[in-house]
Amino acid sequence: MTEHLIDLHTHSTASDGTLAPGDLPPAAAAAGLAVIALTDHDTTAGWAAAAAALPPGLTLVPGAELSCKWYAADPPISLHLLAYLFDPAEAGLRDALRAVRESRLTRAERIVDLLRADGVAITWDQVLAYAAGGTVGRPHIARALVAAGLAPDVSGAFASEWLGPRYRVHKADLDVFDAIRLVRQAGGVTVFAHPKAARRGRIVPDSLIAELAAAGLTGLEADHADHSPAERSAVRGLAAELGLLVTGSSDFHGTNKTVRLGDNATTTTETYERLVASATGTRPITAPGDRSSSAP
Ligand code: AMP
Ligand code: ZN
Ligand code: FE
Ligand code: FE
Repeated sequence: MTEHLIDLHTHSTASDGTLAPGDLPPAAAAAGLAVIALTDHDTTAGWAAAAAALPPGLTLVPGAELSCKWYAADPPISLHLLAYLFDPAEAGLRDALRAVRESRLTRAERIVDLLRADGVAITWDQVLAYAAGGTVGRPHIARALVAAGLAPDVSGAFASEWLGPRYRVHKADLDVFDAIRLVRQAGGVTVFAHPKAARRGRIVPDSLIAELAAAGLTGLEADHADHSPAERSAVRGLAAELGLLVTGSSDFHGTNKTVRLGDNATTTTETYERLVASATGTRPITAPGDRSSSAP
């Protein structure tokens, strides 16, 4: 089996990346990738444009990154599930994603209101303009803070008080067990994104990950920019224990983050093929006439 460079976690302007979905495939090919998954937050809006822009030799895995919570924890803990190859028309998941996107809108507007009440000179229209019709997220508020001169860049805005606890507003994330069930119902597979990224906030215990595995989770993302070497090996150990697949990906966000396409892209061809074989909702996509085939 030939090894290929496979990056299963990227964002476009359909959420909080800065490359349009149609610009992502050419950039991926230029970075030497054979497979790229488009995993915008809570949306499939970028799939068609990305599929239409595939150069020969590049396979697109349609996906999404689902905003979830483990609601049984007190207070609930946020977590992200990468979902791949599900049927985007399946009503249960489609409606659940729409509800999360709507909640993101009201939550972002509330954060802007709180900032404005404290005298921060940003506007809701400005944030909407940065989101450009895609899923609204805090990185779009971060860009407004950068434009206002209150942070050096998007990451700096996250490190500042302005996106800190005072301005943290809840959004109505999916219950993580519901999310796994809905993705399976839509024929897709799930991989827990950056499960041990303690630097991003509170993380769930291994016992919960074991429950998720029993509920139908397929894999864990081990290699990720927000994981230390110790966290990566802890993820690999847990995956071995629970019989889960292991992936590694860039979580590319264009200029909203410093990672490049293909960074941490350690997913093996065998793992990729097992993920594809586990999904029935939709198939990986290649350019018309591309004989490199959907399975590299
Ligand atoms: P939200 O989904 O609206 O809560 O915003 C969280 C998103 O912001 C994450 O999924 C990342 O894409 C991004 N993010 C979080 N921390 C940082 C950071 N330090 N620098 C840049 N982007 C970040
Ligand atoms: Zn993001
Ligand atoms: Fe994430
Ligand atoms: Fe992501």
